[in-house]
Amino acid sequence: MTAKVIDGKAFAAGVRAQVAEHVMRLKVEHGITPGLAVVLVGQDPASKVYVKNKHASTIEVGMASFEHRLDADISQTNLLAVIDRLNADPAVHGILVQLPLPKHLDSNLVINRVDPAKDVDGFHISNVGLLGTGQKSMVPCTPLGCLMMLRDHYGSLAGLNAVVVGRSNIVGKPMAQLLLRDSCTVTIAHSRTKDLAAVCRGADILVAAVGRPEMITGDYVKSGSTVIDVGINRIERDGKVKLVGDVEYATVAAVAGAITPVPGGVGPMTVACLLANTLTACYRLNGLVELKGLTA
Ligand code: NDP
Repeated sequence: MTAKVIDGKAFAAGVRAQVAEHVMRLKVEHGITPGLAVVLVGQDPASKVYVKNKHASTIEVGMASFEHRLDADISQTNLLAVIDRLNADPAVHGILVQLPLPKHLDSNLVINRVDPAKDVDGFHISNVGLLGTGQKSMVPCTPLGCLMMLRDHYGSLAGLNAVVVGRSNIVGKPMAQLLLRDSCTVTIAHSRTKDLAAVCRGADILVAAVGRPEMITGDYVKSGSTVIDVGINRIERDGKVKLVGDVEYATVAAVAGAITPVPGGVGPMTVACLLANTLTACYRLNGLVELKGLTA
C-alpha cells in the first residue's frame, strides 16, 4: 500500500482563503478589522522566523498585525504590563506570546495573564479547563489543524482507535481531548509507555508529537491507518540541514492509508489555525455568531 498524502499546505491555503473572505465581510458589514498581537521576547532565531511568518500570514488575510519585540532581559512586571495593555486594546482580538520565554520569566504566569477570550494559542488555564470539560474554548492551533485534516479525511471519527504519542500541554494533551470529544477511543503514549510499537499498531489514527526525528517507523503502524506527523526536527543529512518529522516517511507511507508529510503537513495548518482562532475570537468578542468549520 502507498499512503494517500494529506496535503496540509493545500488544506491550509483553503483555510486561509476562507478566513480572508470572512475578514473582508467583517470589514464591509461591521466595520471591524480582526487584529492579532504577537509578543516576542529576545532573539531566539527560530522564534524570530515563526513570528515573521505569522506577521506575513496575518497581513495576507487582511487582518491587522501588531508585533511587540521586547528585550530578552525585560522584567516580569514590564512584560505583564504589555499584556495588560493588549488585553485592554479593542483593536486586538488575539494575543500570542511566542514560546519559549527566557528562563527568568514565569511562562505560566505570563500565559495566564492573557485575556482567555483573546488567548488564540488556547494555553490559558481557563481554555484548557473548558476544552477538558467539553465546553466552548479557544483551542490550541496545532491540534486544531490536525483535527480539521482528520475530519476532512474521515467525515466522522466516532469509534476509531486513536493513539497520540506525546503528552505535552501544547500538542499531545489537547490533541487527545479533541479526539475524545469526536468520540475516538484515545490512548496517550509517552516516554514511559511499554512496547510503544505494539500500542501504536492498535491505532486507526496515529498522531506523532514526540520531537524525535523519524522515531515512528513502519513497524509501529497498522496497515491502512492514518498517520499525522506533528514533529518538526532539523537534522543534518548528506552535509545538508533537512527538516524531518517524528515519522520515518518512506517506511510508514508504505504501510499507512494516509499520511501528512513534513514539511507541508501539520506546520502550515498551525499558522492557518492561528488566523482562524483570531477570527473566532473577533466574532466572539463582538457578540457575532462564529463560523462552524473554523473551530473545533
Ligand atoms: P515536548 O518535548 O513538550 O513533548 C514530547 C513528548 O514526547 C513528551 O510527552 C515525551 O514523553 C514524549 N516522548 C519523548 N520521547 C519519547 C519516546 N522515546 N517514546 C515515547 N514518547 C516520547 O514536545 P512538543 O509536544 O512541544 O512537540 C512535539 C514535536 O512537535 C516537536 O518535534 C515539535 O517541534 C513539534 N511541533 C510542531 C508544531 C507544528 O506546528 N507542526 C507545533 C508544536 C510542536 P514524556 O512526557 O514522558 O517526557
